[in-house]
Amino acid sequence: MGTFVTVKSPDKEAIPIAFDEIERVEGLLSKFKEESEISRLNRAGELQVSDDTFYLLRKAKEFWQKSNGAFDISVAPLLDLWGFTNGEYRVPSQDEIMKILTSVGTDKISLNDKDNLVKFDAEGMKIDLGAIAKGYAVDSAIKKVKAAGINNCLIDAGGDIYALGVRSNAAWSIGIQDPREEAIKETIGISNRGVATSGDYERYFRRGNRRYTHILDPKTGYPARKMIASVTVIARDCLTADAIATSIFVLGKNKGEEFAQRFADTQVTIISRDDLDLKSYP
Ligand code: AMP
Ligand code: MG
Repeated sequence: MGTFVTVKSPDKEAIPIAFDEIERVEGLLSKFKEESEISRLNRAGELQVSDDTFYLLRKAKEFWQKSNGAFDISVAPLLDLWGFTNGEYRVPSQDEIMKILTSVGTDKISLNDKDNLVKFDAEGMKIDLGAIAKGYAVDSAIKKVKAAGINNCLIDAGGDIYALGVRSNAAWSIGIQDPREEAIKETIGISNRGVATSGDYERYFRRGNRRYTHILDPKTGYPARKMIASVTVIARDCLTADAIATSIFVLGKNKGEEFAQRFADTQVTIISRDDLDLKSYP
């Protein structure tokens, strides 16, 4: 999934269990794997998928609805256009963006519950689960670890984390990365919660003094411009935290907080671009 995964547990058995499950989920969802279900779906425009993939696509649709379209896995053709897929970055013309936008919109993804058939309703559509696949993989691995009777384990997939139980009788300690230097800005204690961060430093390019980041606003077709350097979300599971963090990046602070409150037990920490000040809500 394009990242490093760390598993920590006092129980050695947790390590192979977690990695096996993450590899299984990666095999279904990764766009870097030609034979993954997502790659096959993107090539064919329709595919009968596994229960895992179908569940995640249903969740993606739910997040799309609840975020008023800010969260949208169908931005993949736009990511290609801006060069975020292959690293050949460019600022496209308004015309190009308008044309590609006709192939974007989760409303144009049909999901048939009866046979797990997924179908794209417009030409040129493609999906990218980069905003939730890691969260889902972490949750799936934690489920397997728990099923093996293990009560304490931390899984970190490049900043998408679930902290199960405790570490030597205290909450697991997690660092919020400074968005502008190799340092930890703040440390938080977490137990039985998922955490995810979306940041403008993860993948971006500059033209002039503008920073263009890898999270796109599906309404405009441009990189999100809400002046957020990073947003960290704590939620009941890592998938929810992952989806909310990406959504807030697009929605901005005010609408983003409102959105987060629609989910139980969430906490949001935003570092703003202008003063790099860190604020937590609620
Ligand atoms: P994350 O680091 O979880 O915020 O995910 C960012 C990744 O999600 C990007 O690199 C894209 O692959 C994808 N993405 C970009 N914009 C959106 C969006 N508006 N909704 C859903 N996924 C997106
Ligand atoms: Mg995310």
